[in-house]
Amino acid sequence: MKASLRLLALTCLLSSCQSPITGSLGSHSTYGDRAGPRGFRTVVVDAGHGGRDNGARSRITGTAEKTLALDIASRLKRALSPGFRTVMTRTSDTFVPLDTRVSTANRSGDAILVSIHLNDGSRRSTGPETYWWRSDSCSIALRVQSNLKAVNTGSNSRGTVRRRLRLTRNPEIPCILVECGYLSNSHDANLLADAGERERIAQAIARAVRDQSACGDCCPTPKAIYAAPSSAHDARE
Ligand SMILES: [Zn+2]
Repeated sequence: MKASLRLLALTCLLSSCQSPITGSLGSHSTYGDRAGPRGFRTVVVDAGHGGRDNGARSRITGTAEKTLALDIASRLKRALSPGFRTVMTRTSDTFVPLDTRVSTANRSGDAILVSIHLNDGSRRSTGPETYWWRSDSCSIALRVQSNLKAVNTGSNSRGTVRRRLRLTRNPEIPCILVECGYLSNSHDANLLADAGERERIAQAIARAVRDQSACGDCCPTPKAIYAAPSSAHDARE
């Protein structure tokens, strides 16, 4: 986590609902060069991978990323009910192209998108990590990461990362991609195999969504980056 983001995170944790910085509602934006949203009632919940795309597979538990991502996404949908309308990009083990997921987000009106993934890497890498790219998505990422850090006991918090991915750059609504932990790490993989832990992860993300909708941003709006859409060429997820 860069020093500037650490400062943002600290500001986020210290701030309250009393003087929110809020973005305009009900409109789409190509670059997200505005403050984050407040008062939204729709969440697009995106379970990563699916069908022929397994994502990562844990060498420790044997479970595929697509299965855990759908489980956590389904729990998140339930955790957001009844306060929010949720739109799932998939509800079963089916392949959904990334561009279709983006289109679904763009049809969902005044909404935010939360994409659920599990990470893969070295055996030593551990802990949750949250990606964002648009200026209007930074606060949501900070809130999610802060809440996940609190439930993922014994793991690192890898912080938030500003990265241009197809699901952080291309949707025209605020959007984040959450890596809930490392399937390649035995501590994380065993935690993620536990339904209770997956429920705690979903509840932590739901709390962050509710806080963002109720309070607006918890940090100053970072400068926009006017970059081209992410393509299949450079997409990592
Ligand atoms: Zn993934």
